[in-house]
Amino acid sequence: MAELKSQSKVGGGEQSLTVALRIRPMAEDEIIQGSHPAAYKVENNMVVLLDPSDDPDDILRANRSREKQYVFDCTFDGACTQRDVYQNTTKILIPNVTSGYNATVFAYGPTGAGKTYTMLGTDEEPGIMVQALNDLFLEMRQNTDKAFKVTMSYLEIYNEMIRDLLNPDSGFLELREDAKGSVQVAGISEVTARSTEEVMEMLVKGNLERTQEPTAANATSSRSHAILQVTVKQRNRVRNVMQEVRTGRLFLVDLAGSERAANTHNRGKRMVEGAHINRSLLALGNCINALSDKNGPKYINYRDSKLTRLLKDALGGNCKTVMIAHISPASLQFEESRNTLVYADRAKHIKTKVRRNVTDVAYHIAQYSNIISELRDEIMRL
Ligand code: ADP
Ligand code: MG
Repeated sequence: MAELKSQSKVGGGEQSLTVALRIRPMAEDEIIQGSHPAAYKVENNMVVLLDPSDDPDDILRANRSREKQYVFDCTFDGACTQRDVYQNTTKILIPNVTSGYNATVFAYGPTGAGKTYTMLGTDEEPGIMVQALNDLFLEMRQNTDKAFKVTMSYLEIYNEMIRDLLNPDSGFLELREDAKGSVQVAGISEVTARSTEEVMEMLVKGNLERTQEPTAANATSSRSHAILQVTVKQRNRVRNVMQEVRTGRLFLVDLAGSERAANTHNRGKRMVEGAHINRSLLALGNCINALSDKNGPKYINYRDSKLTRLLKDALGGNCKTVMIAHISPASLQFEESRNTLVYADRAKHIKTKVRRNVTDVAYHIAQYSNIISELRDEIMRL
């Protein structure tokens, strides 16, 4: 049977990945450990990173040869609020999702740099997930001539295994690819929510289900990737008119720490986790490298990890994508900050092709009517 989904090329087009950088405030224990601020935001969305191995009294320091500068689409520091981050990275994607485009925001960076704070946040300072859903609900209420249906699923990838964070008893889930090459999680629960409070409650509960293991790097480090998938279906509220249904998808991704396993003195079981985290993040890095190749994208191996299979569209396909890289300002985190800045800098060259997802109901009903009348004729002839 024909698939009830076709794609039109209305709007969209080739778009560069938007890359944002967030520097969190210095943490108390970083100050106690003798760290000083080594990364800071300057004008024009520029970030400056100072190499702490430089002797500040060294006369050579005057030429600032070891000072590295990076420029991103937007840059946030400790003075920026959760609202600032949401408004400048994700808000712009909401009308796209409600009109049938795909969008992805992913938080990247080492453990403790602020990824979960940005994506989930707290009750008082809600992060991108809650603010985005809030705006989606608002748009639904204001746009009364359209009928919307919003569903959500929340999952984690841990050791290359997928778990449903909203229904953890369902065991490990598998990825399936449909005829159009779109990757879905088989058996994942899709829930509806009506209010922001309901969403926050669900996400906080889901987050408690995330696999968390203490490591030397951070006592509550999250070793899993968490992905919130929001699906918005929309059609006009006009009776007796054949209409199209538009489906927009928003992926909000809180990645596991990007630090290398060696840094966390991992051993045994933790080492396996490190290897798997590296496998997913390594695959992500490889995809980013291949996609951002100056001579145009080469062969992109999405199949190397669950994360890249799920994010296939977000990276190289039909999606508007924003990456928010996170760093600590502390001098003791210099190596990780430099790695993150280099990685994020490379991601700026990625381009995606964005199309609207439209199901032309009139066209498909006409097709099915033809099939039905042909079948009827056949039966009559028997
Ligand atoms: P990650 O998810 O990257 O491992 P977290 O989001 O858990 O890091 O952040 C580590 C700690 O720093 C948490 O206690 C968090 O509340 C705090 N934090 C992170 N970013 C900010 C920020 N922008 N403002 C205030 N506190 C922050
Ligand atoms: Mg986290």
